[in-house]
Amino acid sequence: MDIRIGHGYDVHALAEGLRLVLCGVEIPHNKGCVAHSDGDVAIHAICDALLGALALGDIGKLFPDSDPRYKGIDSTKLLKVVVDIIADKGYSISNIDCTIAMQKPKLRPYIDTMRVTLSDVVGIDVDRISVKATTTEHLGFEGREEGVSATAVALLCKE
Ligand code: MG
Repeated sequence: MDIRIGHGYDVHALAEGLRLVLCGVEIPHNKGCVAHSDGDVAIHAICDALLGALALGDIGKLFPDSDPRYKGIDSTKLLKVVVDIIADKGYSISNIDCTIAMQKPKLRPYIDTMRVTLSDVVGIDVDRISVKATTTEHLGFEGREEGVSATAVALLCKE
């Protein structure tokens, strides 16, 4: 069996009056991510983890932010494209683990909805998808509520 691991990391600035969308779930908040797409920093990190596992570059290479087709796009659509690429290469996704770092709001109430949403898009069982959230104890850009970061790892298998 061929086993591949990939890692992804993404950051977006926060600004008032924008939508906050994380793992495909819109979260009520006074700030949202500044982005060409819907700014779903968690899905962007997951896409990079999946692409990284097969050394296929990154989300910026696949979906350039200079391309008007991706303006305001729902990032679950980008994730679906990445998942299809992985499948075309003959790999299946064993599991995904993502951590979102932001100071506010508390993400705990949304975590299970995020996992189910990702499970639907990726097409693997929800118990193979982990989403975690942490504050940074008021330290750094996340702690100052200037931005949000996300990291993700993904394991792929080919029989
Ligand atoms: Mg991004």
